[in-house]
Amino acid sequence: MKRFSIAVIPGDGIGREVVPAALNVLDTAASAHGGIAFDYTEFPWSCEYYLEHGEMMPEDGLEQLKKFDAILLGAVGNPQLVPDHVSLWGLLINIRRGFQQSINIRPAKYFEGLRSPLADPKQFDFIVVRENSEGEYSEVGGRIHQGSSQIAIQNSIFTRPGVENALRYGFELAKGRKGHVTSATKSNGIVHTMPFWDEVFADVKADYPEIEAESTHIDALAAFFVTKPEAFDVVVASNLFGDILTDIGGAVMGSIGIAPAANINLSGEFPSMFEPVHGSAPDIVGKHIANPIGQIWTAKMMLDHLGETELGAGILSAVEEVTKNGVKTPDIGGSATTEEVTAAICEQLKK
Ligand code: ATP
Ligand code: MG
Repeated sequence: MKRFSIAVIPGDGIGREVVPAALNVLDTAASAHGGIAFDYTEFPWSCEYYLEHGEMMPEDGLEQLKKFDAILLGAVGNPQLVPDHVSLWGLLINIRRGFQQSINIRPAKYFEGLRSPLADPKQFDFIVVRENSEGEYSEVGGRIHQGSSQIAIQNSIFTRPGVENALRYGFELAKGRKGHVTSATKSNGIVHTMPFWDEVFADVKADYPEIEAESTHIDALAAFFVTKPEAFDVVVASNLFGDILTDIGGAVMGSIGIAPAANINLSGEFPSMFEPVHGSAPDIVGKHIANPIGQIWTAKMMLDHLGETELGAGILSAVEEVTKNGVKTPDIGGSATTEEVTAAICEQLKK
């Protein structure tokens, strides 16, 4: 029996509704498959935890998490109890930075039964690899006050290892997919960092002659995500560009409730963290209408990362089948509850 130890942080709001759903699906898939089991350790770190302890997670929290094979996270944030910047930095950013999770990956895929805003969605299936630790989101810069003419300066930081790691991760991913990489650039307008990004892209590309790779300007790329998302396989982007592209990816799928994500530690020294794109959705807590697919698909990405790709593929097929059959939460046009969708996915996995 192969066993994986998973740290589970349901967090806040609907995180506590969709995480149990995902664990249920994971266990059902594992027992249907045989030979694999998961040991979960749950951590109550959340905004409620903060109210009691004055911190989102204990001082030695990272130390506690370090030994796990992976971290499955629900959602963090309850602005009525704790300001967002406190909860976000205290938990999410703390783990991402502490465990050097420098890559964020978000797939987008269309399947039957979703409610895409695209009039005639083709079978798109792409994944965005976002550099997640540097780039445009830096703390370097400042303000210069000169009387009425104030100036704000924001520096971007692109390191060779940071850029190369993101691009290489994209090329490696493409090997197991359709063999196509698109690099998001803007070297016609951003004259220092983006030409550097392009240079690194050219170097990495040379190592992968079997992969078809091209560079596209971010403005055009954003438009293509809407007009022809089916043209993409793996898209690699800087922190800011990736942030924007992944939101478009989620939007064309039809609901934030189905979009999954992963924060990857490349060295393998620390666990990676898997969390859906959506937040704690305080407006729908307790109504049993939270779509569990985002969290379930996130768990599937965790399986891929742990090398259990067959198990992961089975889960995604079950999700697709159930959605096609119309067992859906209201956000994608159905009337089923979180529990009903989860049960239908589990039934499908047992077939
Ligand atoms: P955050 O700051 O954490 O991103 P947010 O309030 O900006 O939080 P969400 O919590 O993701 O964003 O909620 C955005 C909207 O999407 C809300 O109306 C919410 O009800 C809806 N939503 C989010 N997740 C789901 C889900 N899993 N199923 C159904 N609706 C969802
Ligand atoms: Mg938000």
